Amino acid sequence: MTASKTSVTNPNSGTVTPDLLMAVAALAEAAGQAALRFYGGADLAVSFKDGGSPVTAADHAAHEVIVGGLRQLTPDVPVVSEEGDIPTAETRSQWRRFWLVDPLDGTKEFISKNGEFTVNIALIQDGVPVLGVVVAPAVGRTYYAAAGLGAWRRDEGKAAIPVRSVAPEAGAPVRIVESRSHPSPELEAFLATQAVAERVLAGSSLKFCLVAEGAADLYPRFGPTMEWDTAAGDAVFRYSGIGRPRRSSLRYNQPDLRHQSFVIGGPESGPGAVVWMTGLSGAGKSTIALDVVARLRARGVPVEYLDGDVIRDVFPSTGFSREDRDAHIRRVGYLASRLEAHGVTVVCALVSPYRSSRDFVRGLCRRFVEVYVATSLAECERRDVKGLYARARKGEIANLTGIGDVYEAPERPEVLIATEGKTVEASSAELLDYLDRGV
Ligand code: ADP
Repeated sequence: MTASKTSVTNPNSGTVTPDLLMAVAALAEAAGQAALRFYGGADLAVSFKDGGSPVTAADHAAHEVIVGGLRQLTPDVPVVSEEGDIPTAETRSQWRRFWLVDPLDGTKEFISKNGEFTVNIALIQDGVPVLGVVVAPAVGRTYYAAAGLGAWRRDEGKAAIPVRSVAPEAGAPVRIVESRSHPSPELEAFLATQAVAERVLAGSSLKFCLVAEGAADLYPRFGPTMEWDTAAGDAVFRYSGIGRPRRSSLRYNQPDLRHQSFVIGGPESGPGAVVWMTGLSGAGKSTIALDVVARLRARGVPVEYLDGDVIRDVFPSTGFSREDRDAHIRRVGYLASRLEAHGVTVVCALVSPYRSSRDFVRGLCRRFVEVYVATSLAECERRDVKGLYARARKGEIANLTGIGDVYEAPERPEVLIATEGKTVEASSAELLDYLDRGV
């Protein structure tokens, strides 16, 4: 590795340069060596963070090596490390590109000495990991990958070999890789819906790498994860695709740097999608949804429409507290993902005001199309289709989204439809165009 500046991207193609990838792989390996010096030693100095997760002197040692190295390689690219100060969401929202680092993933594995802890470095560009390095120092293994350069594995003393994987066919038996430290009832419920060939336990970000090298097919994870835990492994997974990246539902640089649940490695081909219409009440979600559903049905596409209000009526106990709204969104999202697994295109219309609940659904789906029906509050209030805004202004409804409750607009929806001054036909045409492009 050279100590001089390395250019981040190839000026011709905009992709990551091989030099940068190799330099970052070497840096992650050096950080792994720094952490290994504490491995099995008495001077581990375990302390506990606010959230209760353990942090050791090894985490800090790896962090110092990585942050110092990245600053030298790419002085202009900011670094976010689990062990450093985390810049605010507002600051980060200005960034197109940054390093996302977990100096030591699997601290529990590190302390229990099963060899599965990893060092993780990823480069995020526009919400996508375009470079990722995962090093398992105790077993002498490095995975590295980048957009346009593929994914590779290098075992100590051996030549690098390509890491490749293909998506399973829908309905085919799948080998599951699951967390050693996070069993959950949700996982068991999800697995009951799959043809499971085998279940393998693994720690840390190596689970992504096992899917990337075809040793497992599916990595489901229920419950929140921090973005730095997944970014590098996700890159190895994505660029293990042959001819094109594997499909990953994970997005990066969210305000809280947190993912909700996700399923990595599911089937990628075949029909079906979950089209999730979100926006204020009266924005036009159900109007556009019904129009699109009618058009798809006329073409013979198997399609289902799930309307938030209708499903609320089926579960009359659903209120409008944060918990109730969240449960409602997850319930509808789960149903939608099950229908999608059978090739159905499911169009859902729900206000779904919280980003985290929408991301939960995104993680469950194979093709998730988030449609932000962007209509201003003033226009929704003028339309006042259901008379809700008038009642809210009179104080009869306390927590109407947009007035007494927040609406967290999607940051990067697949489709944004600005309805004002536009006909319903023009609005639904925008969505159909996107669906027809098959992206
Ligand atoms: P939501 O389902 O988002 O609560 P609705 O679809 O029930 O909203 O109501 C939206 C209202 O806005 C309808 O009366 C619809 O006719 C009107 N509208 C005006 N322009 C548009 C447009 N471009 N797209 C969708 N709806 C529109």
